[in-house]
Amino acid sequence: MNLRPNSDEARDVAYHLHGYTNARAHGDRGPIIVDRGEGIHVFDSNGKRYIEGMAGLWSVALGFDETRLMDAAFAQMEKLPFSHTFSHRTHGPAIDLAEKLISISPVPMSKVFFTNSGSEANDTIVKMIWYRSNALGLHDKKKIISRLGGYHGVTVAAASMTGLPTNHKSFDLPIDGFLHTTSPHYYREGRDAESETEFATRCADDLDAMIQAEGPDTIAAFIAEPVMGAGGVVVPPATYWEKIQAVLAKYDILLIADEVICAFGRTGNMFGSTTFGIKPDIITMSKQLTSSYFPFSAFMMNDRVYEPIADESNNIGVLGHGYTGGGHPVGAAVALENLKIIEERDLVANAAARGNELLAGLAHFEDHPLVGNVRGVGLIAALEVIAPDGRTDDFPVGQLGAKMSAIMLKNGLVSRNMGDALAFCPPLIINSAEVKKILHIVEKSLDELSVAVRPDLYQ
Ligand code: PMP
Repeated sequence: MNLRPNSDEARDVAYHLHGYTNARAHGDRGPIIVDRGEGIHVFDSNGKRYIEGMAGLWSVALGFDETRLMDAAFAQMEKLPFSHTFSHRTHGPAIDLAEKLISISPVPMSKVFFTNSGSEANDTIVKMIWYRSNALGLHDKKKIISRLGGYHGVTVAAASMTGLPTNHKSFDLPIDGFLHTTSPHYYREGRDAESETEFATRCADDLDAMIQAEGPDTIAAFIAEPVMGAGGVVVPPATYWEKIQAVLAKYDILLIADEVICAFGRTGNMFGSTTFGIKPDIITMSKQLTSSYFPFSAFMMNDRVYEPIADESNNIGVLGHGYTGGGHPVGAAVALENLKIIEERDLVANAAARGNELLAGLAHFEDHPLVGNVRGVGLIAALEVIAPDGRTDDFPVGQLGAKMSAIMLKNGLVSRNMGDALAFCPPLIINSAEVKKILHIVEKSLDELSVAVRPDLYQ
């Protein structure tokens, strides 16, 4: 691609290395410059409007122009733009937010720790778990089990928990002590004639076998997303969570619910743990906590986790961990206002209702020859495209998904493909007319995909 010299596109290619981007292809294709936002829409630098069907990165709950969040940030900037939370210091927004999160927690929790990103929160959780095991004299109880396909971030420990090849390859990851068990992806992993509940039993048996093989006394924790996001919007099969939790209880293994995507309404309840009957010891939160208007994250823990950590900090003299920006007053103020708006406007109920409309609409496409599977819960869904007539040699995994995503983008809808699964995760403020618009674009795009892959049949 010939980029106009000194254009924004050319300068981006010249100076900017992007995450989750093929750096060489970026030079050829050039960037999409997102310029401004309005409701559930964003506009590119050419003025083209898109429905942001991914809410940014599963995160902009309130849409792209919520002035109350801007006002909350500005007011806090004016009053106290920064203060930290080390050495017994604190500030109003951190106190209010910690109390608020504990009060809405789906299970009894006792303390909140503040961090700046989902990765950082999960990385910190690993350290806290190691610290806790040492405090309890359980020096071998350090290993963490996560799932193939799970996503927990990209810092060293978080990426080690992530179960996706691109996050490990050439990074010398995972590091030792991080194990990955079976993915709960029934559509991909379920075997012929195996029911959902049989598959769930197999997942729990696999976990049990891994714990036995490693030695139960060496396993500290199991981490999982209530609904896998980046792994392809994987809704767990029926009975999965009760069976997994029974295994963990048997061996006294901590459960971490990574609710970085699910928390604050996405699954139709305030927390994904409520939707699936999960009783975690630790919950990771980020993304929708501030609607991503401010980089911010947190995790909360119960007394089982907190008490030994508190004892150890007392033995050592200080908890030797913390971030300059952790609990940032501006981020905390934005989070508080964001949660207030979610409650005032009952956006959790809206997510459930609009999610039902979205899922029912997508289910209509299940008969389409290029659609293999539709799945979702609340306002997070995926439609998986498949090669026509099983011609997988002609269409390697991910090719059709990428094509469908590009067609939808051209038609004004942002959706991310993870392999051949197209994800839909729009802002929680979406209304019924906008859901219909998404469905209309999906239908039109499937027609165009059909013409692209089978011109002989559909042209
Ligand atoms: N956990 C989950 C479930 C996520 O979806 C993500 C981000 N997509 C992360 C952790 C990592 O968050 P961040 O990108 O803020 O580091």
